[in-house]
Amino acid sequence: MRIYHLAAECYPVAKVGGLADVVGALPKYQNKLGMDAAVVLPFYDRKFTREHTFDTVFQASTLMGTRRLYFEVLKERDNILGFELYLIKIPGLLDREEVYMYPDEREQFIAFQIAFLDWISYSQQSPDVIHCHDHHVGLVPFLLNYSKLYTRLANTPTVFTIHNGQYHGVLGWDKVSYLPEIDMSKSGLLDWAGMINPLAAAVKCCWKYTTVSPSYLEELTINSNGLEYLFYLEKEKGSGIINGIDTEVWNPKTDPMIPAKFTPAKQEEGKQKNKQELCERFNLSPDKPLIAFIGRLVLEKGADMLPAAFMRSISEHKDKVNFLVLGAGDVNMELQLTLLKEADPEQYNVFIGYDEALAHIVYAGADFLLMPSRVEPCGLNQLYALRYGTVPVVRSTGGLKDTVIDFGDEGGYGIRFNNVNVDDICHSINRAIALYDNIPHLQLLRKRMMALDFSWDRSAKEYIHLYESLTPII
Ligand code: ADP
Repeated sequence: MRIYHLAAECYPVAKVGGLADVVGALPKYQNKLGMDAAVVLPFYDRKFTREHTFDTVFQASTLMGTRRLYFEVLKERDNILGFELYLIKIPGLLDREEVYMYPDEREQFIAFQIAFLDWISYSQQSPDVIHCHDHHVGLVPFLLNYSKLYTRLANTPTVFTIHNGQYHGVLGWDKVSYLPEIDMSKSGLLDWAGMINPLAAAVKCCWKYTTVSPSYLEELTINSNGLEYLFYLEKEKGSGIINGIDTEVWNPKTDPMIPAKFTPAKQEEGKQKNKQELCERFNLSPDKPLIAFIGRLVLEKGADMLPAAFMRSISEHKDKVNFLVLGAGDVNMELQLTLLKEADPEQYNVFIGYDEALAHIVYAGADFLLMPSRVEPCGLNQLYALRYGTVPVVRSTGGLKDTVIDFGDEGGYGIRFNNVNVDDICHSINRAIALYDNIPHLQLLRKRMMALDFSWDRSAKEYIHLYESLTPII
């Protein structure tokens, strides 16, 4: 089966969040299972693209409205990621450093989708499945069906995976002229609430859509930034497949980014060494429980709750707990978290920024990982924490609910709470501190969580079964 994964991010080429981890791992695991999966991304002028060799495999020009775009498709020469990687380069539009946040971001992603479709159409390719990830590539299922340019490909099965249903990539109808000639009698499929909504269009036009956890499939009918009714109507077409983790990249036994490697049998010693190095770097005491947060500093992740929760816990547990934050995002949240350092430099520290290697050390060295998320489609952080023997302390939502069992329940290993408020978070922190004092129990839980299997092997198979259920109409 020839599968094209289309996305804005892919680790290690360009990563902003979990989308990159999934797109960088799923195709590799699919190929191990005998598929022929490739990834297509916009070209980014980043470390990865500068350090690897690419061949131009296709060149053409196309139109976005009245704007002529010259594009080339570059292929990474050695398949070093375990799959074919193609990058679409458009001078002046898709040749920049950052993944998002440009004022012409909508044009960038429309151009990317048009160039991809032109390429496979003109080069006479017939993939078995086109798998689109998130709204950046959400117009592809519609264009395949309702643009005259791509009628040859109209029967190509499409799968759309929602990694984050809060963002839709909405654009005004004045931008419809950017699309290749479409059947205007079908324009309602692009529309939601009077705007062109690529996420809604993808859900309506794809053959099947998936969410990155079963609970998130349910939650989208209650909370999806205005698309609740659509998800209610289209529920039959959806399924929830929990993300896996790349156990080759995230392996405490071999991880080149952590100071002390460790196995489940030697976790006590290994984790303590990593904790010591981490605490030394951040001026914290390695003898106290270390509770960490890693992630985007946004409301979705509940990052606004951290300063008040930490302040209360520090005053209730003077000299008995440490907190460490690694994150970047909302400027005000960054400021609040930085100011907190001045208030209590002995029990709290923060690193504002994005640092992949530091994230690995935090997963390895922390005792607990706090995730007070309001929305968490799957969440990878808790899966990395489990793999590195770090107890996840999570709000019961989305993928967190599907992957973390409270240690008070049978077979449990984590800490769960229901509400995003300071009381619930502090109560969970109290439970974490009490657990830290009960070393045999903590050791037992660590062994239990490190034995869990959240590798891609299982989830990659589920996607393949889904592809196999899609039979092209002849
Ligand atoms: P989302 O995609 O919503 O941000 P996920 O839990 O799916 O959340 O994935 C987050 C990924 O980004 C994880 O690999 C996590 O380790 C990483 N990450 C988030 N923030 C940072 C940061 N500041 N530095 C390093 N890694 C980070």
